Amino acid sequence: MAKLKVATVSLAGCFGCHMSFLDIDERILELIEHIEFDRSPLTDIKTVGACDIGLIEGGLCNAENVEVLRAFRAHCKTLVAVGACAINGGLPAQRNRLPLRPLLESVYPQGVPNDPELPLLLNQCDRSTRS
Ligand code: SF4
Repeated sequence: MAKLKVATVSLAGCFGCHMSFLDIDERILELIEHIEFDRSPLTDIKTVGACDIGLIEGGLCNAENVEVLRAFRAHCKTLVAVGACAINGGLPAQRNRLPLRPLLESVYPQGVPNDPELPLLLNQCDRSTRS
């Protein structure tokens, strides 16, 4: 029987959901008899391929998060939102009560970083289950 292909990603999350997953310890050996990991922090594969299941940790805080989630939606038959951040925005969404620009200026009083390599921040941190 073919193994299920599973991809995982942490968007605006803390990797705690991935750490909880790793808490299954040696049972991961039983699991990999049934599944094969694609893109995941566990494999360090950087692009998502055709998968049966995509596990999404974290919400959407920047343009890169949106791009990665779209790639997961395009390549995974089933997406599963894992944890409070993916489901309702979680801790990163606490910033939603404040306007973005003054918030950044208070965090970076010496100047807000504007390197073009940095992903564009969204005005609001959103849950990954939206749309
Ligand atoms: S729900 Fe969010 S804060 Fe909690 S462990 Fe997962 S990523 Fe981290």
